Amino acid sequence: MQQLIAGNWKMNLLSRPAAALARDVAAGSAGLHCGLAVFPPFTALAAVEAVLRGSPVMLGAQDCHASVSGAFTGDVAAAMLADAGCGAVIVGHSERRHYHGETSAGVRAKAVAAAAVGLLAVVCVGETEVERDAGHAVDLVCRQVAESLPAGFSGVVAYEPIWAIGTGHTPTHDDVAAMHGAIRQALLRHLGSDGAAVRILYGGSVNPDNAAGLLAVPEVGGALVGGASLTAEKFLAIAAAARHG
Ligand code: PEP
Repeated sequence: MQQLIAGNWKMNLLSRPAAALARDVAAGSAGLHCGLAVFPPFTALAAVEAVLRGSPVMLGAQDCHASVSGAFTGDVAAAMLADAGCGAVIVGHSERRHYHGETSAGVRAKAVAAAAVGLLAVVCVGETEVERDAGHAVDLVCRQVAESLPAGFSGVVAYEPIWAIGTGHTPTHDDVAAMHGAIRQALLRHLGSDGAAVRILYGGSVNPDNAAGLLAVPEVGGALVGGASLTAEKFLAIAAAARHG
């Protein structure tokens, strides 16, 4: 399975620079051995969609609501994202779990809503530094996987150690291999044989210098990239480091 390199633009970029970044990413996407996806803020989706239409770069959003429609001021339904041209949506990013109190049960409901309209759900899981230091990381992350993924899940899991996000720190390759192996086992327990087909992305301070090493770790199915995805050159350099095949 090809690796997927996904750019989470978070709350950055107005429409015009977002479109320019998307244009540069699309222009550099030829000849890569991986899939590409970008996740702009809601307000830039239309501008980026216009640029990416017909390109192999998938458009995604950073969150959706679990309900189909209704009195949820400020929220966006999965069908609205599909209507805006999205093919994917991130759910359960640690920043949403932390700042918005999102629970794994709520994340699971969002993943269901996404799948119902044909969006690829990118479900994020990951431990804090305190949890890792206490030796609970694997158990906690595997529990997040079981609680956040609905039956029949066919999206993507992104393992993002919270202490690695935006810090410049990354786990060792051995730690990534151990966690991704444990997540694979959790997927197989939770989803049966379908769990073998779920890509497991690594996320947290991926940059052009460390990408090849991280992407070569067994069971790493790609990367979810924050800061480095805001520069086309860096994002494309990470994509160029993807494993072949
Ligand atoms: C993220 O928040 O999804 C992320 C991986 O950020 P960064 O690459 O900046 O650590």
